[in-house]
Amino acid sequence: MGNIKVTVNHNRCVGSQLCMHFLPDVFDLDGNGQAIVCGLDDTDVTTLVQTAEQCPQCAIKVEDESTGEVLFPPAELGM
Ligand code: SF4
Repeated sequence: MGNIKVTVNHNRCVGSQLCMHFLPDVFDLDGNGQAIVCGLDDTDVTTLVQTAEQCPQCAIKVEDESTGEVLFPPAELGM
């Protein structure tokens, strides 16, 4: 697995904090009450994708930077 990139779409995030609940070392809230990625450390990609799946707004995107593959959300969601 190559470099993983996780981003939060602030046009979608409503600050529910679910992602912080699952991965408190990865996600934090910014001053506007929206999630930000503070560091992935050694978080495995399966856990990242599972957390992204839990986001009620589908605001979390997980990509493999080395291949450009979007691991979540799936293309059929049209995000
Ligand atoms: S779970 Fe989704 S909507 Fe909630 S804070 Fe995280 S990114 Fe934002």
